[in-house]
Amino acid sequence: MMAPTPVRLVLAALALLLLVPQDDASAASRARHKAPKDPSAWASQATAELLGQALSSSRGWDLLKELCDRIGARLSGSPELDEAVSWAAERMSKGDGVAVSLQEVQVPHWVRGQESLELLSGRTRFLPMLGLGMSVGTKPEGVEGEVLVVTSFDELNSLGAEQVSGRIVLFDVPFTTYGETVKYRLGGPSAAAALGAAAVLVRSVTPVSLNTPHTGTTRYQDDAPKIPAAAITVEDATHLHRLQDDGVVSRVRLRMAAEHRGDVLSSNVIAELRGREIPDEVVLVSCHLDSWDVGQGAQDDGAGCVMAMEAIRLISELDYRPRRTLRAVLFTNEENGAGGGAEYAARNQQDHVVAIEADVGCGPARGWRLDLGQSRSESVEGEEAAQAKAEELMAPIRTALEVLGAGGLRLGYGGTDIKPLVAEGTLGLGLDMDTTGYWPIHHTEADTLDKIDPLVLRRNTAVMAITAFLLAESQEPMVR
Ligand SMILES: [Zn+2]
Repeated sequence: MMAPTPVRLVLAALALLLLVPQDDASAASRARHKAPKDPSAWASQATAELLGQALSSSRGWDLLKELCDRIGARLSGSPELDEAVSWAAERMSKGDGVAVSLQEVQVPHWVRGQESLELLSGRTRFLPMLGLGMSVGTKPEGVEGEVLVVTSFDELNSLGAEQVSGRIVLFDVPFTTYGETVKYRLGGPSAAAALGAAAVLVRSVTPVSLNTPHTGTTRYQDDAPKIPAAAITVEDATHLHRLQDDGVVSRVRLRMAAEHRGDVLSSNVIAELRGREIPDEVVLVSCHLDSWDVGQGAQDDGAGCVMAMEAIRLISELDYRPRRTLRAVLFTNEENGAGGGAEYAARNQQDHVVAIEADVGCGPARGWRLDLGQSRSESVEGEEAAQAKAEELMAPIRTALEVLGAGGLRLGYGGTDIKPLVAEGTLGLGLDMDTTGYWPIHHTEADTLDKIDPLVLRRNTAVMAITAFLLAESQEPMVR
């Protein structure tokens, strides 16, 4: 289906606004937090107004510009993340009837330091690289060795310690899906270290490359030595691979001053609009406020945060207080520990009926992806029943989102921050955005504000606000 153009969207919003009778609009503006006489008409009116406001407001873009250009990259433990937490709390506290609080979370303080990768054989040069988050550093003189290219864990293991020991293992694994390919960034260093490798290089996790290295966290296992690990570009990984296939052995020197300085305090930022009828049931809209230490964290996940911040602001400013409590949570430490999501789920025992997350950039939203926590279901029947229930709940919301070209719904989302809630039975929803422009800049120096289309941001914000409102207002029983 063709995506609606911004002009068509604005016209659609204006048309919907004109459908709202003027008398009703002024009457509603007086006491919208009271129980409406006709809940269905009231919800339709709210939807139209949210759509019009979201599409006509530049506020989301202004917020994202502040976050990216004035604060910038904000890795856990950095002063920039502290600044972002204060900034977000201050900005959200301006909402009408919105209560903002901070929830302390222990986060790792890992710093990158100076780093380089030098090709010592053939046409010698420095290769673009980024150390993996949480990696240990090297000795000051670096670690030097022959490169051994492998394309899978099976291939690595078949070579055994005899071939791997003392070498620098390069995982040259082409991108299939993020979930599949990222296994090598996460588990590659320990798998190679168990066989005696001196260091690990991974091909950046991306389907498309313009010679840009992509960082991201790695996870050491307890039963293997911790060895330094870095990402290199698709171009260099495939080049070194072709050389090996031709019988050419490459030598490199990796230098990394990375270190983990222990844990420090950060905070989840929580903004709440208390429900008018069933405040104990919570509908959550979320994102993560931290980013990698490269780029500006514009797509990952500044845009998602702006959508969540704007959703609760628009609903509160228009004074459409829904039946259930609406809560926007800007999680901390998603990138290298997922501490914010875990802490929130452990400390907030209210009945979270739906947890919404936006964390795949800011391409045009096509609809929603369901996160049913599949591992939880004991039977196929149980899973099918959960899916049918979720589809029924989403049906009127999909209809409302059709004007934005965002009426889609498909199965399969695994949000890092909402995972602990989903594991307890909360319905998870991930904003389903076009990721064509996302993976190529994900976790790179190129994740900057210029990659965000302001009109798409408005449109995605409208999808977020309408969905959050209609779920929080739904007349369907939502006890999980
Ligand atoms: Zn993210």
